[in-house]
Amino acid sequence: MSRYIMAFDAGTTSSRCIIFDQSLTPRAVAQKEFSQYFPKPGWVEHDPGEIWLTQYAVASEAMAMAGASASDIAAIGITNQRETVVVWDKYTGEPIAPAIVWQDRRTAPICDELRQQNLTESIRRKTGLVIDPYFSGTKIKWLLDHVDGARKKATKGQLLFGTIETWLIWKLTGGKRHVTDISNASRTMLYNIIEMRWDKDILDLLDIPEAMLPTVMPSSCVYGETDSSLFGESIPIAGAAGDQQAALFGQGCFSPGSAKNTYGTGCFLLMNTGDKPVFSEHGLVTTIAWNINGQTQYALEGSVFVAGSAIQWLRDEMRLLDSAADSEYFASKVKDTNGCYLVPAFTGLGAPYWDPYARGVLVGLTRGVNRFHVIRATLESLAFQTYDVIKAMEADAGAIKALQVDGGASQNNLLMQIQSDILQAEVRRPACVETTAMGAASLAGLAVGFWQNREDILKNRQDDRVFTPQITCEERDQRVRGWHRAVALTAGWAEE
Ligand code: ADP
Repeated sequence: MSRYIMAFDAGTTSSRCIIFDQSLTPRAVAQKEFSQYFPKPGWVEHDPGEIWLTQYAVASEAMAMAGASASDIAAIGITNQRETVVVWDKYTGEPIAPAIVWQDRRTAPICDELRQQNLTESIRRKTGLVIDPYFSGTKIKWLLDHVDGARKKATKGQLLFGTIETWLIWKLTGGKRHVTDISNASRTMLYNIIEMRWDKDILDLLDIPEAMLPTVMPSSCVYGETDSSLFGESIPIAGAAGDQQAALFGQGCFSPGSAKNTYGTGCFLLMNTGDKPVFSEHGLVTTIAWNINGQTQYALEGSVFVAGSAIQWLRDEMRLLDSAADSEYFASKVKDTNGCYLVPAFTGLGAPYWDPYARGVLVGLTRGVNRFHVIRATLESLAFQTYDVIKAMEADAGAIKALQVDGGASQNNLLMQIQSDILQAEVRRPACVETTAMGAASLAGLAVGFWQNREDILKNRQDDRVFTPQITCEERDQRVRGWHRAVALTAGWAEE
């Protein structure tokens, strides 16, 4: 009987592998960074070959650390940076160009054109997404338009497209399987999330031949077996999901109304909305959370651009801190912010404001405001920004029950307490913060019977700490009013 599930966490800056046992405890973790290429302003590329080689290397390393052979691994689950595009030659296996990474803005003119054709609403109704270079579709078009001979080859069926999980599954199976999981498909801006198929109208608009697209499969099922030359024997690949969806699953947000927030560089909030897609009236995107046993669940998603990076700013630019973790100690030296607010709209504001011209403000300054107040105000800005996205989600889809948290800044107890105060809701932090990898492992384990059902997985999930509100609603409302007055001051600042 196999003892382990192996999760591949194919991130934006590194490839990781975590081996989990039956109680979802990590037994081995290996990680390798890979190169980031910035060939022009706004361009971000990866080498697909390096992504594969580092992923393979960390898998072998983690197996050695756990003393595991292929027969000890019941299945592999994959979670990946989403939207990033690889196009390769079906016959040689060679990528035709570097991968275009989700952060890459080179396709902004293609998106402008689509918007000028008044396609915003129809694309949103079909894909759940806003027209933006972030998503894969326009990146594929760019490659076909700019790489010599690419469109001709694609039309003849010689080229294949994949997001990173597709690329890894293709490599792992020795080129036998060209498949994608549905949560990743829903981030391409090519997949119709209502009709559950690649959308022919959008493919025509972008001039992308359907033959190059992978077969869309559920998030938990056997996609194929690894080529036996890789790990000694073959291992089933049985789960895949985009990183944010995998974290939602890993956090046990299985029922409608459950939500998670990842506090990293930015914040990624996802709320499970059940078996119906909810189209936001408040600037959120609609996405497929997963499909398991023929059942699709949807999520609303909102992102905050600057969260943990505001703490880095305090450390590196303002020199108010030596380390991000110190923010907790300094902020707790004062009982409040002494009336000041910091809105870190350094790169504009994302959901629900969507103001690219907004810029940061620090307001409410009086003679008594000191360094600790400013640090505290910066921490609070993470909680207020999260509050704004959650309120947008609630307006679209009803109240959230509790917020599950993860990501680097979720380790800050004071921040989590402030978050609970501001939301007037429970904030739950799991003992194991490897939620993304846990999600991928769970999806794979369910498909091969390593775990029987979701309850079987949930019983392994333990809270490290639950934060409950400790201020009154009135006090909360007053602080939120101040925050919104501060946000209003950021609007359109860079337009002049
Ligand atoms: P990412 O995956 O986006 O790189 P991580 O989840 O690793 O991010 O979190 C790192 C971010 O969290 C950094 O921006 C850092 O400033 C912030 N951070 C880390 N620890 C703390 C802490 N104890 N308090 C506040 N912020 C923190």
